[in-house]
Amino acid sequence: RPDRPVHGRFAPSPTGPLHAGSLVAALASWLDARSRGGSWRVRIEDVDRPRCSEAAAEDILRQLDRCGLVGDEPPWWQSRRGAAYAGALEQLVAAGLAYPCACTRKDIEAAAAQAGWVHERHGERPYPGTCRPERGGLAGRPARAWRLHTGRAGGGVEIAWDDRRLGPQRQVVEEAVGDFVLRRADGLWAYQLAVVVDDAEQGISDVVRGADLTDNTARQILLQRALGLPTPRYLHTPLVLAADGAKLSKQNGAAPLDLADPVQALRRAASVLGLVLRDTDGVADTLAAACEAWRAQRWPD
Ligand code: GLU
Repeated sequence: RPDRPVHGRFAPSPTGPLHAGSLVAALASWLDARSRGGSWRVRIEDVDRPRCSEAAAEDILRQLDRCGLVGDEPPWWQSRRGAAYAGALEQLVAAGLAYPCACTRKDIEAAAAQAGWVHERHGERPYPGTCRPERGGLAGRPARAWRLHTGRAGGGVEIAWDDRRLGPQRQVVEEAVGDFVLRRADGLWAYQLAVVVDDAEQGISDVVRGADLTDNTARQILLQRALGLPTPRYLHTPLVLAADGAKLSKQNGAAPLDLADPVQALRRAASVLGLVLRDTDGVADTLAAACEAWRAQRWPD
């Protein structure tokens, strides 16, 4: 679909500065948009306020700037978007697709054990649906979180989608993750809801992000459908692995990017994407070479 307007974004969570892994996602999303004449934006995903800081966000923006990755518009900050997320939750509640949940982590463990659920995913069990309205709802207990009723939202059937790099993907969300959280017990908006509302409102046509997020996509497509929003195309980029083969992350101590030499940082990120660059001189020329290489590689538009 070469004539389709392309709108891309990079959506970092400001829990620390950019590292080599996050630059790969930033560069890929920029290349994907720019090499097709599209727009590109930065969105600061600071919904998880206790883990995020404005200083880290400013660091990230400075680092991107050093690398020549500058958005068309000032960045959006999810911490200022509460009204939009509240509107989306209201819409889901009105449609009977979201419900309040009183369960603590302990309640969930106990209910799952009682039901004999063995299925575990990233050390967590799917929510067993204890507070679903048809099962008695809150039963007088105080509401804590809000959840998507995946059964009613269509999550009982397989969500199938094509990743531009990884190919066909599928997930039955109701089985794999269960009724996931839209608004947390501490009142904070969940990533899944915020990302879906913002991708739609910013008209994002192509989500390009790290492969560690692949598994969230079916949930996001389900939410888009429940809210009547379009589904963008998805491309999940290769991860940068730490020396021990683990995914590079702030948690395992990934060093922040040293931007004394942004050209070197960009060339490394490009090589993770499998792009072979000609010799370049300076940031702008390196980005131009990376655009040429991106156009020449095999991932479909
Ligand atoms: N904020 C998310 C993260 O930094 C990325 C969200 C996305 O690209 O969809 O992990």
